[in-house]
Amino acid sequence: MTLPASVTPELLAKLTGMVVSTSGRSYPLTEVYTGEKVLDLPQSSPEDVETAYAGARKAQAVWASWPLKQRIDVMKRFHELLLRDGLIIADLMQVETGKARRMAFEETCDVLMVTSHYIKAAPRILKEKKHGGVVPLVSTSTEVRVPKGVIGLISPWNFPFATSLSDAMPALIAGNGVVLKPDNKSTLNVAYGVGLLYEAGMPQGLVQIVCGEGPDIGSTIVENADFVMFTGSTATGRVIGAQAGQNLIGCTLELGGKNPLIVLDDANLDEVIPGTIMAAFLNTGQACMHIERIYVSEQRKDEFTQRFVEAAQAIGVDAKYDFSPDMGSLVSVPQRERIESHVDDAVAKGATVLTGGKARPDLGPAFYEPTVLTDITPDMILAKTETFGPVTSIYTYKTVDEAVALANDTDYGLNASVWGKDLKAAEAVGRRIEAGNININDGLAASYASKKSTSGGFKTSGVGSRHGDAGMLKYTDVQNVAVLKKQVLSNPPDTDWTKQVDQTVKGLRFMRKFGIR
Ligand code: NAD
Repeated sequence: MTLPASVTPELLAKLTGMVVSTSGRSYPLTEVYTGEKVLDLPQSSPEDVETAYAGARKAQAVWASWPLKQRIDVMKRFHELLLRDGLIIADLMQVETGKARRMAFEETCDVLMVTSHYIKAAPRILKEKKHGGVVPLVSTSTEVRVPKGVIGLISPWNFPFATSLSDAMPALIAGNGVVLKPDNKSTLNVAYGVGLLYEAGMPQGLVQIVCGEGPDIGSTIVENADFVMFTGSTATGRVIGAQAGQNLIGCTLELGGKNPLIVLDDANLDEVIPGTIMAAFLNTGQACMHIERIYVSEQRKDEFTQRFVEAAQAIGVDAKYDFSPDMGSLVSVPQRERIESHVDDAVAKGATVLTGGKARPDLGPAFYEPTVLTDITPDMILAKTETFGPVTSIYTYKTVDEAVALANDTDYGLNASVWGKDLKAAEAVGRRIEAGNININDGLAASYASKKSTSGGFKTSGVGSRHGDAGMLKYTDVQNVAVLKKQVLSNPPDTDWTKQVDQTVKGLRFMRKFGIR
């Protein structure tokens, strides 16, 4: 298969040249649609990671000294450059991940939306807050937001561009540097985005790229970081969280999900069916917020199942560098084997395959059909474990209370979706689900694309959050600068303490009564 025209040897050499690497080791990066090797991706050693931090720290000192407006101006230029080059990044993402082009392009839009949100919101979020101090009139206290320093940012392959660039954006605007470790499989598109930041005027060295498998360089990344932003599996999140705790640094962990969708009895299936198809199969089901469990009442199950299965069968799956396929490949052969093992286990234990359930070697080595299962029992692996592929299951419920209980019967709590015409009732059901994102009459995009709102995972789906004010403030330390115009807090040696206590009690009562402090 011919690589997209934009993916030239010169571009590939430029992108691999951005990786900090002296190890002499490499990773064979392949084109997912064919399994053919594209290049040898340089690997970083722990010493390279330390070099990357040293470089980022030097640049960060300069960057943090720039006025906020100057940093924002860089991001305005970056936004424009990303609008210019979105389709080149989509080319790279398709080569590396095998995702459908529509999804690859949409992923670049996430970074555009996050960037323009923080361009607008940063001056308000980072603004100093001046308060009256401990003693009225003679004292003040000011909250100052100080960048943490250098952020260790580790991202997965499923949404590599968004989980790298979107999460770096608030950190950078707040004045931090970043050492970024994308997944080996999906480094090139991320490097292209970092190149655009430099083209936009960011100081050289501020964002450093290191590459390697997690166990080889992960702990050096956390060891040297002032804060860690991690997106990936719950298992890896536990390792990173433990090390961050040991080092007494903060971290955000955006982890896995096993997300439920409830179809209420008054839901309009004309909207539910396409919405649920999107929610289950977007990005070939490799989305942390995608839907793996669908709950329909017994009375609507047959109607829903027939229409949903027909729609799943109509999904166009193909290996094309154009916008025609609805769905692309899984990311790799091991990922396809994981999906197969979940489905095979379910079938062996009595699950019914309503459609799909097979690999598509005729399309490429990692393709797998959109798959709908039912008759799921708790002993099946996919009943509780995240599958992370184009596989979803239909369950029935008798009462709404039962549907809510089933939706909550999971260790995860990332996303949930509820469909119904009575919006108040649907929202009330949604609020009972233990998840950080609740989408009413949508699968996942409505909450994820609301960049003003902070969101993150409940339960084992994560710690901390992204987007909104908290998504930027987490990359800062707060400094409380208190000023006394006159020293009135220390007591002279001859203080009459009986009088002093009496005056203090009266003063505290007065201040509470009149709302002064
Ligand atoms: P993963 O945890 O295996 O890898 C993610 C990243 O962590 C990769 O860059 C990997 O190299 C690195 N890594 C692995 N072991 C490490 C270690 N010991 N120390 C440091 N880094 C290490 O996850 P994955 O399978 O590549 O990604 C898919 C998972 O990510 C799914 O569980 C999905 O739900 C989750 N995810 C969550 C979100 C979210 O926002 N909550 C978004 C996308 C993906």
